[in-house]
Amino acid sequence: MLALYNIITPAPPVEDMKGVGPKLRDKLLELDIKNVNDIVFHLPSGYENLTVMNLTEAKHNDKVTVAGLVKTEPTVAFFRGGKSRLTVFMEVNGMYVKVVFFNQPYLKDKLTVGEPARVSGKFDLHKLEINAQKLIFDASGGFYVKYYLGGVMHSKTFSKIVAEVFEKCIFNYDLPEDLKQKYRLLSVREALWHLHFPKNPHDINEARRTIKFYELFIFQLQLMEKRKQERVRNERYIVNYDVDALREFIETLPFELTSDQKRSANEICRDLKQNISMHRLLQGDVGSGKTIVAGLASYAIKTIGDQTALMVPTEVLANQHYQSFMEIFDGRLNIAKLTGTTSRREKIHIQQALREGEIDLLIGTHALIEDDVIFKRLSLIITDEQHRFGVNQRKRLNDKSYRKNVLYMTATPIPRTLSITTFGDMDVSIIKEMPKGRKPVETYWRRFDETDEVLNALAAEIKQGHSAYIVAPLIEESETLDLKNVQEIFQLFTNRFGEENVELVHGRMKPEDKAAGMKRFEDHEKPVLVSTTVIEVGINVPNATFMVIFNAERFGLSTLHQLRGRVGRSDKQSYCILVSDPKTENAKLRMDIMTSTTDGFELSERDLEMRGPGDYFGVRQSGLPQFKVADLSEDYRVLEHARISAIDYAAKMEADG
Ligand code: ADP
Ligand code: MG
Repeated sequence: MLALYNIITPAPPVEDMKGVGPKLRDKLLELDIKNVNDIVFHLPSGYENLTVMNLTEAKHNDKVTVAGLVKTEPTVAFFRGGKSRLTVFMEVNGMYVKVVFFNQPYLKDKLTVGEPARVSGKFDLHKLEINAQKLIFDASGGFYVKYYLGGVMHSKTFSKIVAEVFEKCIFNYDLPEDLKQKYRLLSVREALWHLHFPKNPHDINEARRTIKFYELFIFQLQLMEKRKQERVRNERYIVNYDVDALREFIETLPFELTSDQKRSANEICRDLKQNISMHRLLQGDVGSGKTIVAGLASYAIKTIGDQTALMVPTEVLANQHYQSFMEIFDGRLNIAKLTGTTSRREKIHIQQALREGEIDLLIGTHALIEDDVIFKRLSLIITDEQHRFGVNQRKRLNDKSYRKNVLYMTATPIPRTLSITTFGDMDVSIIKEMPKGRKPVETYWRRFDETDEVLNALAAEIKQGHSAYIVAPLIEESETLDLKNVQEIFQLFTNRFGEENVELVHGRMKPEDKAAGMKRFEDHEKPVLVSTTVIEVGINVPNATFMVIFNAERFGLSTLHQLRGRVGRSDKQSYCILVSDPKTENAKLRMDIMTSTTDGFELSERDLEMRGPGDYFGVRQSGLPQFKVADLSEDYRVLEHARISAIDYAAKMEADG
């Protein structure tokens, strides 16, 4: 596989450099530096600009480096605690300047009257005084590089080794010539040279630009290679499903599929028919109808007598999916559910039925990855909100496959730029179009002191037989007084609508209590659900037309959008009320954005602008690669160029054989 930091091949070990003996070699090893590539890619952690400047152009308090003549004998005064002050007068650019060094009394011997000297420090324009930090001896001047070397050697020692590598080794890899021209990039060797031996800030910037592009370009090529490898060809992967049965099933659906759903289903079916393992992401905004598309795929699998596993991140979601699929299939598939709360007896029963191939579709949480869950012939794995699972969890499930076909569903509208890094090795099907008759959710922003108005609006909805979600961010008494916690809000609603109409569900409840509460809400026994963000993903109660989000400023745009997606799931007009007294401009902006658009992709782009992709997925998505110069949270534009370039490049390579 193409390696990122491999531009000298073959790469001699560090000890082939004259300056590196066994002792230094061991020290470098501690820094994980083994060969010459590791050396040239061990970039400076920072620079110090000690270029000599004209002091007449300096402003008060500037950090300056100047050259001048020593005019007086330096004097040193000592204080208590070993502290000292060295004072000397110098003539600098025609000015008579007092230069003071604190706690470097030994510099006295280095300063001789009538001799030139260079110093750097902070300039006091009013007193014509330099509070000096450094006396500079070497003649080269300019930029000083600092390396992170863990205290095992000096930056200067390391610089010498770097210089030797440049002198002795042939850098055989470089970016393609046409790309260097198009983006006005340096050669990789030149760029590395400038970073290690800089002359001015401009060179450093240009060099960084080149290395950034280089890193992202190679990264994209790697992704493409991985994608190729993952699509293993094997006759066994061919799923010759019963097209007629599938078509017949689609006829029975209570609605017509949208064209995006049809296209996605076709793409999936085409993957299944090929002798190649499927590796596809099904991306679609909340409520866009991904579930039925996944359902069609599992039905196709069933027609050849094979099995499907659907893994979801939460118990609530597992229940929801289980119910949806039971409804969709109405006895056509044998569906089972396995989660952490499944009883032992039930579990044993399911395990047996699964081994014997009696279960067509197993829906569950990460309980599915347990070793004692053995399928007869698992030929399709669907995961919902896959970024909530670790790589290993996914792998453990994938390893149970008979025919490896994986379909990832996500409602997180991932900006394109990000999806190409995180899902770059997958095929993507996108559902953009909402089912017919859907009306955009009308969204309003209200202050806390307008809560009564919100309650009145809700009363009208309940009267029409609709349901409502009330979202509160916290369970316990909060530190900040104005933050309404879930208990308090529950009180507010029961006072108004009576306990018989209001259900409470939060994260601290036992899963079975939570599930029972959710069920009462789903069955419309109670029309109002007060909850924390447990409803963030996957709940489907088409009758719900009203959502209130308290302390909406506490949530990011993508969470708010996910929450809002719980309403507007039928042809009825739905409403979302953000109750918030935002304190920051950023929070206000979020409220304004939410009230101005319901387009998940637009929101995700705005989100990206506001936050940067670094924390787009939160902690779970720590799988983002780390580079030496490029930073995915900032350089996504470069990334896009690198991606296009990589695709072109690979195509050209292929054409050239
Ligand atoms: P997602 O999983 O993408 O958030 P769902 O699959 O849960 O969305 O679908 C949301 C709702 O829309 C469900 O009630 C589903 O039955 C309904 N639905 C799905 N596709 C269509 C369609 N083509 N026309 C009408 N309703 C649909
Ligand atoms: Mg869904």
